[in-house]
Amino acid sequence: MATEIINEKACKKCWEVKSFDLFPKDARGKNGIRGTCKVCRAVYQKQYQANNAVEIAAKRKQYNSYNAVKIAKKKEQYQADNAVKIAAHQKQYQVDNAVEIAAYKKQYAIDNAVEIAAYKKQYNLDHAVKIAAQKKEYQAANPEKVSANRAKYRAAKLKAIPSWFGELDKFVIEEAYTLAKHREELTGIKWHVDHTVPLQGKLVSDLHCADNIQVITATENLSKSNKWDPLTNGN
Ligand SMILES: [Zn+2]
Repeated sequence: MATEIINEKACKKCWEVKSFDLFPKDARGKNGIRGTCKVCRAVYQKQYQANNAVEIAAKRKQYNSYNAVKIAKKKEQYQADNAVKIAAHQKQYQVDNAVEIAAYKKQYAIDNAVEIAAYKKQYNLDHAVKIAAQKKEYQAANPEKVSANRAKYRAAKLKAIPSWFGELDKFVIEEAYTLAKHREELTGIKWHVDHTVPLQGKLVSDLHCADNIQVITATENLSKSNKWDPLTNGN
């Protein structure tokens, strides 16, 4: 008589007959498997974890505090071994969530405006000497940008900057200052960056933008009827 090999049994919980590989392994159990199937076991474990969430969290916390040094070392080692992978992952995360991150940062700035302002103020006080030196260095290295910024600031005070003022306007105005400097070096006379139509003329006012910028000699500029054009005043 041939011996039939039985390799399935009924789960003690759901009573479904299932093959042995659908039961968790257990060396102490009959046939080396548990009496309840994997599905029932998973349901039980999930329920157990839900019922004992507080105790489990407390135990985990205790374990982590007992093994803090070991865990920290392991984490450090993992980060060292996977530095490239982690950096790539972080970069990808920032790309994938750019909109959410920007929104979060904006909201954070709004929610913490008072603290941030106080922090900045304190930082500026603590680093006043260094900041002043950096500013001076920047101004020495970028005279055209500084002149253009001053002109923009004066124009802003006169509300002469159009809402559509953009990169091109900024570029053209900075270039105008570079041009004025070159012409001075070439001709030996003073050149000014000027608004073709004054920002604050007696009859007509115009805007601080690329279309309204010209480089003329200082003599020509000062002979114009409008003597308080903000670009030439106070330079
Ligand atoms: Zn079962």
